Amino acid sequence: MKKIIAVDGPAGAGKSTVSKIVAAQLGYTYIDTGAMYRAVALKVLQSGKPAEVVTQDIDIKLDGAARVFLDGVEVTKEIRTPEVSRGASDVAKFGFVRKKLTELQRAMAAQASVIMDGRDIGTQVLPNADLKIFLTATVEERARRRFEELKLKGIAADFEQVRKEISLRDKQDSEREIAPLAMAEDAVLLDSTNLTIEEVVTEILRLAQ
Ligand code: C5P
Repeated sequence: MKKIIAVDGPAGAGKSTVSKIVAAQLGYTYIDTGAMYRAVALKVLQSGKPAEVVTQDIDIKLDGAARVFLDGVEVTKEIRTPEVSRGASDVAKFGFVRKKLTELQRAMAAQASVIMDGRDIGTQVLPNADLKIFLTATVEERARRRFEELKLKGIAADFEQVRKEISLRDKQDSEREIAPLAMAEDAVLLDSTNLTIEEVVTEILRLAQ
């Protein structure tokens, strides 16, 4: 039988890292919905056209290796810049963008057992998920992880700047009118501030059983 795990939470809580591992362990498909909002933002930035226009005929595909394709072109790396992060949170406010991506996400979840991460998966996209996780951590810890990640990639960053960007995105995502970042009533809260990746994965696998 098909199973669905929904993982929501604020930016940098480790949702994609742990979801990828859980997906591999359970043989589920991992779906990164943030990458889809990022692809819309990238198309807006590249084309200079408004979100309403670009979403009309947008083609977004995610493959099994977590690669992202926008209108047939791979954009896996291009969607990870700070500019696209901000842009994603901006386009995510629009009802027409959310409607389009929510439909795509539900269609993907209808195909296979999935673990889907985002902000509104347990509350809006897949309210009947078999397991809902709300993964969080303090803003300092999330900024520290993001900062270390950038350092490892050789990207120069300022810690205070990273912390500010994360806080701003959290605020914008939590306060928007449509499908804000929120914990579903029946979600399990996991605070990863003092947990390792392995500990979070083990807990989700335990809950999934
Ligand atoms: O998860 P990630 O940081 O890649 O998401 C980028 C942005 O996309 C978020 O800050 C949020 O505004 C938006 N998003 C959303 N709903 C989702 C996933 C992401 O609004 N399900």
